[in-house]
Amino acid sequence: MAEKFDVIVVGAGPSGNAAALRLAESGLSVLQIERGESPGTKNVQGAILYSDALERLIPDFREDAPLERHIIEQRMWVLDDESYIGSHFRSDHFNKEPYNRYTMIRSQFDKWFSERVQKAGALLICETTVSELLLDGKRVVGVRTDREGGEIYADAVILADGVNSLLAKRAGFHPELEPKDVALAVKEIHFMPQEQVEQRFNVKGEEGVVIEMAGKITNGMMGTGFLYTNRESITVGVGCMLSDFKKQKITPYELLEKMKAHPSIKPMLEGGEMKEYTAHLIPEGGYKAMPDLYGDGWMIVGDAGMFVNAVHREGSNLAMTTGMHAADTLVELRQEEKDFTADNLKRYKAKLDESFVMKDLKKYKNMPDVFHSNPQFFNDYPELLSEAARTMLTVDGVDKKTKEKQIGKSFRKRRSMFGLASDAFKFWRAME
Ligand SMILES: Cc1cc2nc3c(=O)[nH]c(=O)nc-3n(C[C@H](O)[C@H](O)[C@H](O)COP(=O)(O)OP(=O)(O)OC[C@H]3O[C@@H](n4cnc5c(N)ncnc54)[C@H](O)[C@@H]3O)c2cc1C
Repeated sequence: MAEKFDVIVVGAGPSGNAAALRLAESGLSVLQIERGESPGTKNVQGAILYSDALERLIPDFREDAPLERHIIEQRMWVLDDESYIGSHFRSDHFNKEPYNRYTMIRSQFDKWFSERVQKAGALLICETTVSELLLDGKRVVGVRTDREGGEIYADAVILADGVNSLLAKRAGFHPELEPKDVALAVKEIHFMPQEQVEQRFNVKGEEGVVIEMAGKITNGMMGTGFLYTNRESITVGVGCMLSDFKKQKITPYELLEKMKAHPSIKPMLEGGEMKEYTAHLIPEGGYKAMPDLYGDGWMIVGDAGMFVNAVHREGSNLAMTTGMHAADTLVELRQEEKDFTADNLKRYKAKLDESFVMKDLKKYKNMPDVFHSNPQFFNDYPELLSEAARTMLTVDGVDKKTKEKQIGKSFRKRRSMFGLASDAFKFWRAME
């Protein structure tokens, strides 16, 4: 334990595994510390895996990674209490190798990823919690663990410890997470025979479907729901901002029960056996809520750095990409015989700025503020859209021009002309 490593990576989720893999492959000595019994036991995800990020790290991952189904169809649903209005995009393009997105089960995936990391030469110790960072002045020089004599030293520490990032908070690098910047998500996995999944979603073999949902399923809170097809199971979940849960008198569990009882969702789950229920936080504060990402001897990657694109439900790919860039920065500096000072580590931020990670987070920087203060997007508009579709599709002897007028009137009555114009502007601002 008195040994010194080039780098200590705290956490064996996607961000930590990506960093440790890259460092070990480049010949640096790496110690990875994970508090779970094994990698994946503490982790929760929907889960969609985006191939691109993993492919950059492990080009042959498809050969043995535990993948469920490749996604050929994406549905987007806006729901009121009894209907949904939606768009479906299904393409044979997504049915050709190499597949772009897969469903997967995180506990299996993290274990597999970690085996690759260990094969590359990183040393992993599990069932060990890093309790604090060791500092020499402002410089991080190692970590203290909950094991006896558990002080371990390194030239750099990568914080890949997930959304709470207690270590960075304790060291004063990271402010306390605000409830408005973090979502609480719950999910269940319902098992059923493979043929049943395939019949219900009109897929065969390893094809899969994703349904992303918004609207009244979140009770007016800022959040979304999801339903993903696995090989022999369906994952269903919902997540909303913690600040909204605090205001509303509904628990996440009740919200999920309500969502599962929705007439458009219930038939898809019928007969399934629920075998797994998990809850986890998701850092959704976006660009404006990001902490400092590096300092003397330390870097933050993945959820610990607020790297989640909530609009597109991307997190694991940002985690892997930030882990990869953090590792590449250290490898380059070592090759150039430069120290891991804050001034040198700013190269990590420059790499992120150049990548899709920061570009996407910057693009949606206004989204959290806009949706927090405008619950009409989750309540009024789903109802209005449903009502409009119902009105137009009900054949009742009323002419279509009159129906259009009725729809226009119901929108104006609910939101006013000014309200509609200002909502359109706000929506554009959130997505600009
Ligand atoms: C319900 C839900 C659905 C999601 N769906 C998707 C999806 O479909 N697609 C997608 O791309 N993303 C999704 N995400 C987001 C995604 O799961 C995260 O962005 C991703 O897991 C972040 O990876 P990470 O390695 O940064 O953190 P984590 O996966 O949280 O890993 C952190 C690791 O650090 C360990 N750790 C923490 N503290 C310590 C400590 N002090 N000492 C030692 N070990 C420690 C933990 O045990 C854990 O293993 C979802 C998240 C949730 C909650």
